[in-house]
Amino acid sequence: MKAIRGAITVKADTADEIKENVKLLLTEIVEKNGLSIENVVCIMFSNTADIHSFYPAKAAREVGFFNCALFSSLEPEIDNSLPLCIRVMVLAEIEDNPKHIYLKGAADLRKDITEKLNIAIDGPAGSGKSTVSKIISKRFDILYLDTGAMYRACALACVNLGVDCANESAVNAIVDSIDISVKYENKMQRTYLNGTDVSESIRTPKISMLASVVAAHGCIRTKMVDLQRKIAKENSCVLDGRDIGTNVLPHAEFKFFLTASPEIRANRRLAENELKGFKQSFADVLQEIKARDEQDINRKIAPLLKADDAIEISSDKLSEEEVADAICAQIQGKI
Ligand code: C5P
Repeated sequence: MKAIRGAITVKADTADEIKENVKLLLTEIVEKNGLSIENVVCIMFSNTADIHSFYPAKAAREVGFFNCALFSSLEPEIDNSLPLCIRVMVLAEIEDNPKHIYLKGAADLRKDITEKLNIAIDGPAGSGKSTVSKIISKRFDILYLDTGAMYRACALACVNLGVDCANESAVNAIVDSIDISVKYENKMQRTYLNGTDVSESIRTPKISMLASVVAAHGCIRTKMVDLQRKIAKENSCVLDGRDIGTNVLPHAEFKFFLTASPEIRANRRLAENELKGFKQSFADVLQEIKARDEQDINRKIAPLLKADDAIEISSDKLSEEEVADAICAQIQGKI
């Protein structure tokens, strides 16, 4: 069962206006969500206090919603709220993500749930991108695309085939045989290499380093960036990586660049790796983080770089929740 949201305004508080606009709103909700009236379980309306002439629920009954539960309520009077507005929540049996419908004067009310939202979060290893991106994707109910996982899967492909990740022509020779895809299970990304789920096996310290090496090659980047752009074009998502704001989605409306000192990042990575059962010393992890920074910053193609229009957030003194709060506040201030 999914909740589909919507709203519309009427020109005047008349029965005809209310009936006509309730019909328009419900028709759009049904059509855009591929529903049939039988799939609709319940429709709940609320309307602003300046609408009295006709119950929106009665209007819904009149346009054919006979079998579902219907309910109308009056909203409290709130200063400066949009006048003559009817809001709706439709509960329906659908598989896909709901498409929310906001029409007429209400069209701009909920851009966060009606427009495709792409949020770019770049930064070095251990800056907290993935945890923060997961929190944000949950808050906005959009996908989280972990682009690093794709480069990691490419590195694993090379390891499996015995190809040296640093040898560009050898990588070039096998690039067509690398098929990376992502699927979502319970809204969590699973990363596939040639049809096999490699989501866990790409998380080793060895693959971290090799991903950074293989990600420097143009043939790999072109292929991964094409896939990332395709996913971002079709879905609202938060993408984390190194070049999302500068290269993958240079026109993304929301760009953030997370930073933290190498020592803090190394401490975080050490804790993560311990949980996964990888025993490393702090010195080793710090050295690895610095080596990866060096490679990612200095490569010729799409290096790790803050986009000019990205908002930089240092997570040295902030928890991941606090960084996510700061990012959400920026986004909500704009939409
Ligand atoms: O973010 P993660 O640590 O999983 O990324 C692994 C490696 O993949 C990075 O060190 C970087 O070299 C590469 N990468 C990239 N561009 C991205 C994401 C990751 O080059 N958008």
